[in-house]
Amino acid sequence: MDRTIASISTNNIGTSAINIVRITGPEAIEIVSQIFSNKKLKDAPSHTIHYGYIKEEEEIIDEVLVMLMRAPKTYTMEDMVEINCHGGYVVTTKILELLLTHGANLAEPGEFTKKAFLNGRINMLEAESVSDILNAKTTAQSQMAIKGLTGKTTKLITDLREKMVSLLSNIEVNIDYPEYTDELQITKENITPVLNEIEQTLKKIIEESKNGELIKNGIKIAIVGKPNVGKSSLLNALLEEEKAIVTDISGTTRDIVEGSIIYKGVVFSFLDTAGIRETEDIVEKIGVEKSKKLMEESDLTILVLNNNETITEEEKAWIKMMEKKEGIIFINKQDLESHLEKVETSIPMIYGIAKEQKGIEELKEKIIDLFGLKDLGNKDLSYLSNARQIALAKESLLSIQHAKEENQKETPIDMLAIDIRSAWENLGKIIGEYYEEELVDNIFSKFCLGK
Ligand code: GDP
Repeated sequence: MDRTIASISTNNIGTSAINIVRITGPEAIEIVSQIFSNKKLKDAPSHTIHYGYIKEEEEIIDEVLVMLMRAPKTYTMEDMVEINCHGGYVVTTKILELLLTHGANLAEPGEFTKKAFLNGRINMLEAESVSDILNAKTTAQSQMAIKGLTGKTTKLITDLREKMVSLLSNIEVNIDYPEYTDELQITKENITPVLNEIEQTLKKIIEESKNGELIKNGIKIAIVGKPNVGKSSLLNALLEEEKAIVTDISGTTRDIVEGSIIYKGVVFSFLDTAGIRETEDIVEKIGVEKSKKLMEESDLTILVLNNNETITEEEKAWIKMMEKKEGIIFINKQDLESHLEKVETSIPMIYGIAKEQKGIEELKEKIIDLFGLKDLGNKDLSYLSNARQIALAKESLLSIQHAKEENQKETPIDMLAIDIRSAWENLGKIIGEYYEEELVDNIFSKFCLGK
């Protein structure tokens, strides 16, 4: 914890005009003073800027501005010094090197934010939002992350936890001081509405968080159908207009994604179904099991049918399977004579001509609509936004639901306390009230250097 750490905080250090090297921890000011020409720094008041030279013995390395911020009003709540030096690889790395030789440690990725967390300046939810802001590629993603940082979601979670604590303490009082039960009588009947309320709020958070995940990770879409119906043409049409941003959006999923576009602030990532497309009759060859797997991997399946042909048994089987998950049927080749029978299903259908880019806009709009992501700008995007947080919320919900079930039976009230406590602990883990060192390390290691 009392490590003094240093790192270069700016990116592309070879090409930017100014770079920032920062250092934080108990030795920060002392270490900078040793290499800085301006000797007033050591006793200067907090939040002041100082002009001078960084020197290696008598040699001037660079002319710099030094920002001095004393604990506790800093990002890490420890002394922090930021050196604004000239851009350029040699100078910047030389300054970092000097800090290290004078006693600073090289910061690990995310270590600045980890200090902020461990010193109690931000909670886990907020820390993860910092990481999300840094990684955001669309406006919606960054809006959502900023909401996380402003603490709205935290408040939702802490309010829920307070309700749980109050339930728990009432139960405890009833057990330990039965003589007071007149005033604080807690019965199966008066526990029920509180549990219901907690359950509803948790359900709502989890439900809305699915949007958060979609905004953050993008919607994974599989385009399937038998050969020659126009799957490649459809994919090309979807990617066509947005070629400029197709290349490198989806970071982590790049391997399995054939291309991505951003539509109305949401990333659509098309899964690579090439392997399947090569087989002669996809539905027959890949079989039901493989089809299921593909559907599991994607958030949305688009089945392409050919308007010019009659429907096959396999295609009917596909449609049945799709009814269980988000799906759209794209009926292609509307320019040709129709031989396709009417399909009885609740799955939305879009009619188009892939090779002429017709029906594409409608298809994209339908996708946004299906996932409830319309008018993102006006929505309150204060959800949990990663799998870790959502999994914990789900655990918490299960415990509350279990408590509710037990409450219907003859189970004594104090047994419910176990479930409620577990729900409370899991919510605590979301905001980092409870943490294991390994988890903390894991979360912060995903940050970039210097943050
Ligand atoms: P895939 O095997 O499902 O990927 O199908 P392709 O995209 O390769 O298309 C098969 C053939 O159908 C190609 O010759 C396309 O030019 C043609 N095709 C695709 N979309 C349309 C369409 O909307 N109308 C017509 N008439 N032909 C299309």
